[in-house]
Amino acid sequence: MNSQHCDGAIAADLLAQAVAWRRELHRHPELAYDEHRTAEFIASRLAESGIPIHRGLAATGVVGTITRGTSRRSIGIRADIDALPIREDSSVAHASSVAGIMHACGHDGHTVMALAAARVCAELPDLDGTVHFIFQPAEEGEGGGRRMVEEGLFRLFPCDNVYALHNWPALAAGACVARDGAMMAALGLFTIRIRGRGCHGAMPHEGTDPILATAQIVAALQSIVSRNVDPLQPAVVSVTQIQAGDTWNVAPDECLIRGTTRWYDETVGDLIEARLTRLVQSIAAGFACTAQIEYQRRFPATINDPSAASFVRAVAGGCGLKVMDHEPSMGSEDFAHMLQAVPGCYLWLGAARGHDNAGLHSSHYDFNDEVLPDGIRLWVSLVRKYLTDP
Ligand SMILES: [Zn+2]
Ligand SMILES: [Zn+2]
Repeated sequence: MNSQHCDGAIAADLLAQAVAWRRELHRHPELAYDEHRTAEFIASRLAESGIPIHRGLAATGVVGTITRGTSRRSIGIRADIDALPIREDSSVAHASSVAGIMHACGHDGHTVMALAAARVCAELPDLDGTVHFIFQPAEEGEGGGRRMVEEGLFRLFPCDNVYALHNWPALAAGACVARDGAMMAALGLFTIRIRGRGCHGAMPHEGTDPILATAQIVAALQSIVSRNVDPLQPAVVSVTQIQAGDTWNVAPDECLIRGTTRWYDETVGDLIEARLTRLVQSIAAGFACTAQIEYQRRFPATINDPSAASFVRAVAGGCGLKVMDHEPSMGSEDFAHMLQAVPGCYLWLGAARGHDNAGLHSSHYDFNDEVLPDGIRLWVSLVRKYLTDP
């Protein structure tokens, strides 16, 4: 393990162990709410560190709690633990052993940073207060964060502030971004079924073509951002899936359209949903088709509390990380639900590597173990600063 950002405060044997843990988790990825082996692994490592654990929030969630002294100060550190339904194409020795599932977002690395930090924190002699290490399932679109909050996370484990990090391959290793306010966008998903009446491809006048209606709808949806949303407000409408037809000479009965929407301002979210609904219904009707729309607003925007973000920047700078400013992302993150319940900060940790720098959700991605010490040190320093400063 070699990192210029680690001044040696994290013992070499723990770092070596962290790398081994990370690769073990990488070999055995599990999807949303199915992280049973992963949860068992987390619980075992926490128990080895003498840390009391609670299991079962959001099915496979695990919380490890360290309390020292008499202070009522309390913070949460959240790590996501789930993998993605992607077939791994990397050639690493620790590649996924599960067909069609891989840790393509680095949640294996996030889990291990928190586990190793918990192990260090359990040994710190000078803490006064409580830190909850929150291991959250189902971050990838399935709302594990919201479910943990709904099932009583912060009632059972009260936190003054809650923090989470994501490795960021687009940023140089050693960099850290913790913005005041907006960090990640709100997320909407839509599934639209356009129903017409199929017919012989050579006699189109005998049917009602859902593909033609769909083509107009896909084009028209692009007018929402370009013509309806204030140009100074961030917004995305992306059609990402179209399915229809089985062959070249039969017009189908139905066409399926799927996609995603992103925004920050809730009034923009309302506008996107209203315009999408109206365009789809009216265009389908204009082409004598019917439309069935399922529209879900899955995650709110991830908005940092400015004082929690400024605390993270101070801690990161003190750890030797390069604190940078950066534009917010139009990606989304279900830690947003925790931040709606408790003020806190979501940060990006630089994770680029010189060679083979595959992005998040790429089938070639593998978490950069070189940045494990950055995350471990950041969490340990943050806990220490929060729970020892008067
Ligand atoms: Zn992801
Ligand atoms: Zn992720």
